[in-house]
Amino acid sequence: MTFDVAIIGGGIAGLALAVDIKSRGYNVVVIEKGNYPRHKVCGEYISMESHNYLEKICPALKKLNLPWITDFKITTGKTKEFNTALGLGGFGISRYLLEELLFEEAKIKGVIFLLETKAKDIHYENDLYTIETNSGNVFSKLVCNSSGRKSNLEAKERSEQLKGTNYVGIKYHIKIKRDPRLIEIHNFPGGYCGISNIEEDKVCLCYIVNSKKLKEANNSIPELEKNTLHKNSQLKKIFNDAVFIFKEPLTISGINFRIKKPVKDGSFFLGDSAGSIAPITGNGMSIGLRSASILGVLVDEFFLRKISRMQLEKKYDDFWNKEFSARIKLSRHFQKLSEYSFLTGITINLFNNFPSIAKTIIKLTHGKPF
Ligand SMILES: Cc1cc2nc3c(=O)[nH]c(=O)nc-3n(C[C@H](O)[C@H](O)[C@H](O)COP(=O)(O)OP(=O)(O)OC[C@H]3O[C@@H](n4cnc5c(N)ncnc54)[C@H](O)[C@@H]3O)c2cc1C
Repeated sequence: MTFDVAIIGGGIAGLALAVDIKSRGYNVVVIEKGNYPRHKVCGEYISMESHNYLEKICPALKKLNLPWITDFKITTGKTKEFNTALGLGGFGISRYLLEELLFEEAKIKGVIFLLETKAKDIHYENDLYTIETNSGNVFSKLVCNSSGRKSNLEAKERSEQLKGTNYVGIKYHIKIKRDPRLIEIHNFPGGYCGISNIEEDKVCLCYIVNSKKLKEANNSIPELEKNTLHKNSQLKKIFNDAVFIFKEPLTISGINFRIKKPVKDGSFFLGDSAGSIAPITGNGMSIGLRSASILGVLVDEFFLRKISRMQLEKKYDDFWNKEFSARIKLSRHFQKLSEYSFLTGITINLFNNFPSIAKTIIKLTHGKPF
């Protein structure tokens, strides 16, 4: 069988695209090397810009009583903090639940899943793609690559770009009494920790740290937390007061924030595989969802012969660069800055003296509802 669209990687971007394109009447296959449900390292805060789209492609979300997040606080060291309203704001949901709901919706709609199947290579000949996987070949008219930030399918030059500072991400789910409307960012030497509510009164505690700091702590997460994170007294208190639902933390390594290319070798990239944004200015999930929503429209126009293959590539490339390049570049500056407590302290002073600067930056990190 030849599919209209093959999607490599069924994370949030790939699942959203699968549901979107299938709803438009096309045959879709998702090749996913893992399975569902599963936890992922992520702050689990979704900007409200994506809310309408997510409810449209996943109506089951409407039945959930998810926490709305309207306020923001950033702290460093012992005393410095800045508080503000978020403007557009967001909501909290675990990746475990969100991907499971999208997966179920996609199956109901008739998307075909090849689970525990790894795409190994892609070939193009006579208007047809052949995707080699560990369990045979898959054939399709279009290929969309949503295989995340570290893909075995990247061309050599794409992975070459990824050299540079690396970060480690660590996540827990905890229980703690706190204001569910608040997202907190607590800076510590080498990184920062985000805390916000998700479903069922649970709280996501997720931090990102320069990998050098983990090495300095002899690759021991408890030592890193005790000697580095706890230098922020508010964070130390949260660690001490919380009940940890995960016995062991969930970890990922080799994180970096680069812009790649949204169209390469005839494949369309979306989500982190097109470029990943630093969580300090957040909203990587919304970037993936927004890309899926646009790619869905363009793929439909292509199959309806309203646009040519070349127009499809150009329109998606133009859209992606216009919408996201500046956002990702901004995030990289803030990521660097947030590794240094004294710079975070200066930023907090600036925000306290000129709150409108903070509001402008927050606005830039959240797109417009779609
Ligand atoms: C520490 C941290 C905190 C974050 N916090 C937030 C936050 O609060 N809010 C937010 O919006 N964003 C946040 N992000 C960013 C967000 O997690 C990502 O933008 C998002 O996960 C990207 O989704 P994706 O679908 O592109 O990729 P992924 O979720 O990584 O999915 C890629 C999928 O592809 C599969 N795959 C990979 N290679 C293959 C292959 N060869 N064959 C088959 N399958 C393959 C993988 O198994 C995976 O399921 C955070 C990121 C980090 C690192």
